[in-house]
Amino acid sequence: HKYVYEFTEGGKDEKDLLGGKGANLAEMTRLGLPVPPGFTVTTEACRRYLADGVVPSELRVQVTRALRALEDQIGRQLGDPEDPLLVSVRSGAKFSMPGMMETVLNIGLNDASVRGLAAVAGNERFAWDSYRRLIAMFGKTVLGIEGEFFAEAMDAMKREHGVTEDVDLTAGHLEELVEVYNKLVQQETGRPFPQHPREQLDLAIKAVFDSWNTERAMLYRRRERIPHDLGTAVNVCTMVFGNLGPDSGTGVCFTRDPATGKQGEYGDYLPNAQGEDVVAGIRTPLTLTGLAERDHASADQLHAVMRRLETHYRDLCDIEFTVERGKLWMLQTRVGKRTAAAAFRIAAQLVDEQLITLDEALQRVTGEQLARLMFPQFDRSADRTLLAQGLAASPGAAVGTAVFDSSAAAARAVAGESVILVRRETNPDDLEGMIAATGVLTSRGGKTSHAAVVARGMGRTCVCGAEAIDVDAVARTARVGDAVINEGDVIAIDGSTGEVFLGDVPVISSPVSRYLEEGLEAVLEDADEDTAELVTAVDRILAHADSARRMQVRANADTRDDAARARRLGAQGIGLCRTEHMFLGDRRALIERLVLAGSAAARTSALEALLPLQRSDFLELFEAMDGLPVTVRLLDPPLHEFLPDRTELSVRVAIARERGEDSADDEALLAAVDRLHESNPMLGLRGVRLGLVVPGLFAMQVRAVAEAAAARIKAGGRPMVEIMVPLVGSVMELHLIRDETDGVLAEVSDREGMTLDVPIGTMIELPRAALTAGRIAEAADFFSFGTNDLTQTAWGFSRDDVEAAFFAAYLDKGVFTVSPFETLDEFGVGRLVRVAVEEGRSTKPGLKMGVCGEHGGDPDSVHFFHDVGLDYVSCSPFRVPVARLEAGRAAV
Ligand code: ADP
Ligand code: MG
Ligand code: MG
Repeated sequence: HKYVYEFTEGGKDEKDLLGGKGANLAEMTRLGLPVPPGFTVTTEACRRYLADGVVPSELRVQVTRALRALEDQIGRQLGDPEDPLLVSVRSGAKFSMPGMMETVLNIGLNDASVRGLAAVAGNERFAWDSYRRLIAMFGKTVLGIEGEFFAEAMDAMKREHGVTEDVDLTAGHLEELVEVYNKLVQQETGRPFPQHPREQLDLAIKAVFDSWNTERAMLYRRRERIPHDLGTAVNVCTMVFGNLGPDSGTGVCFTRDPATGKQGEYGDYLPNAQGEDVVAGIRTPLTLTGLAERDHASADQLHAVMRRLETHYRDLCDIEFTVERGKLWMLQTRVGKRTAAAAFRIAAQLVDEQLITLDEALQRVTGEQLARLMFPQFDRSADRTLLAQGLAASPGAAVGTAVFDSSAAAARAVAGESVILVRRETNPDDLEGMIAATGVLTSRGGKTSHAAVVARGMGRTCVCGAEAIDVDAVARTARVGDAVINEGDVIAIDGSTGEVFLGDVPVISSPVSRYLEEGLEAVLEDADEDTAELVTAVDRILAHADSARRMQVRANADTRDDAARARRLGAQGIGLCRTEHMFLGDRRALIERLVLAGSAAARTSALEALLPLQRSDFLELFEAMDGLPVTVRLLDPPLHEFLPDRTELSVRVAIARERGEDSADDEALLAAVDRLHESNPMLGLRGVRLGLVVPGLFAMQVRAVAEAAAARIKAGGRPMVEIMVPLVGSVMELHLIRDETDGVLAEVSDREGMTLDVPIGTMIELPRAALTAGRIAEAADFFSFGTNDLTQTAWGFSRDDVEAAFFAAYLDKGVFTVSPFETLDEFGVGRLVRVAVEEGRSTKPGLKMGVCGEHGGDPDSVHFFHDVGLDYVSCSPFRVPVARLEAGRAAV
């Protein structure tokens, strides 16, 4: 087994084996970029270790060989007391998990080699600085000592010597600090800090393997739906030093702005610093312009490398680099995470620069990102109290109560409160709070800080580096000048501008949602440059999706206004018009009459009263959707849902009896309510069953549809109506309804002197319907998958009862990675869909099939529906643009 690969051996496509970081280090090495030499221990070795609980012995041998080769190449030996080779041990899984896995720098330093390093570098301070970092990082991540202990010792040292910045500590101070740290290690672990370099290396590799299964890592993976069995690779990389003095430093940069998508390089650089200092927000960093002013040559080189990487990866690259005494080193690159706006803008820019095709641009954006861009924003014209200005780290308009730690954030969020997590800076321990919060605000750190990166990844609004804010987490307050924010005070943060406001700020619709509803011209009229570029990019990419997709996109809408809105958002018809709202409000009285009707005549008269009301509802709807298909579903819910509440009614009857008043009507109603009561309404008298046992009900609805269609035709319109029968489980049910329906249609056609062409189809929402779809297809002109009910009936749970009761636990335990009501369960429910598609089409080739259910607007589900060959998806009007985009992505 080959468990170890040198950086010269791999490439960017080997992420499964080498992890993202390792694969990209190898790629940069192959490109001839200045990467410090090193090697990668594979994810396979990690999986082996996690399975067996011991490090495979072959791995030890292979590490020795790779280490010796590295020592020979560099001409120094790991931890040599005279002139030590030092390495970093870095985790790197297939998917980037920012801040989740641990890295240890300066491995190879010990009480002897620290002096050798000082002598060779001619820099005492640097050597002791590196050593104290090793002990702290190793102590925390390998030995499991509370990180705070090291931070406190550091702060005490600073206080003692009257300095505020760590760079102001002298070599002597740092040597003292090393002594304190060593004592801490002895005290906490009962043994001294390991002095043997190889032991340090082996322990660190094992610790990286172990870190795969920390709580934080598992939480992150669950959230991001990353499988738990991948394991992480470990990279062993020759150290280069950004903490050698003012001509050294470390930085992070992006080839374009990942927050806005603005063209142009962008980054943070911190002189005389190492590793995480930039992202940890220890000091406020310089920009790349700042770097160019200090060190022109390095900045030029960096610029050349960035351009090279972007051309090579043909995408935004996120880069970590270090300058060691004027020499540039590349420590990491990856295709960078970005905000939704940046994703669209950058994709369109890269098309313009002819680096990618439009098909590729479509693959670079997601429906979720488009949905995020449709979120409302702060109203600029409202009265607002600006509290502070920070950096725009992750866009959005978040209003909520201020909280100062993760547990408060989680507690209040569970209670339904919208909260803003306010921290000096964040670290992985804050993850739970960041997930719970609608927004994150920090007073330190740049746009590449932990807070910014994680918030962007999760789509949380974030403002970072608002330095005017003085956060006191212990006292749960923050001060800005004279103003004080206490826990529970409402604040608002604008992640697109970096502004922080005191109190509530009203929100308005976003330019992208305005564009989607009103068109490009309307928005371009008064848009600034950034907005104009964004909406133009969305327009181009969405237009490409429309031309690429095979599936049509319809909307679920039951009213004229919803239909009109859906049409503006690009719906190509209505896939589900629920008729139940036509039985609510004043019309309940008519349903009561229907239910109570003691004779055929009374029933007919109740239905006749409903007919004109339904007809006029349909008329409006067909007008709004003129020329596009409208699928009308006959009544689905059980009748008792339209009747008065049983308890209220019995109280009313009891009071009337008590007072000796006439309560005959109410008593009759109560008897009916009792008769129709169901303990399991989801599985009761509903859908087609109603149509078969309540004489005339479906016929009345069909008549209303037919008459409305006829009226539209007479008025010069082009109604395209389809009738859909819910909850069919047997072909016989459909035959019976069909006979009745055909009769009504023929009668209306005759009377109106026209041929009404109304296809009659069925919903497939019961397992039995899916399994007998071949027979049902004989009586159906189309199928529409009702995936909400199909999910309920396939799993045997009722949504209203189970979601709140145990879905959180199921997600937590990993029974689901996502709620099956959100994303279609491909293996179970999806299998039923597949069977029905195949069976249905084998009976009737070309049988039209669609889906109406919330899954129609869910990105993953849309891809599944494309793959199984559905003709359309139908979703809520607001999700129509998302479905258009995803249907296009599924097709390219
Ligand atoms: P992460 O995955 O959290 O980014 P990294 O492995 O990239 O962790 O390392 C953390 C920090 O240490 C980064 O800033 C990185 O640039 C720096 N670093 C890692 N290896 C070296 C090295 N060999 N020399 C100098 N700095 C390093
Ligand atoms: Mg890194
Ligand atoms: Mg249903």
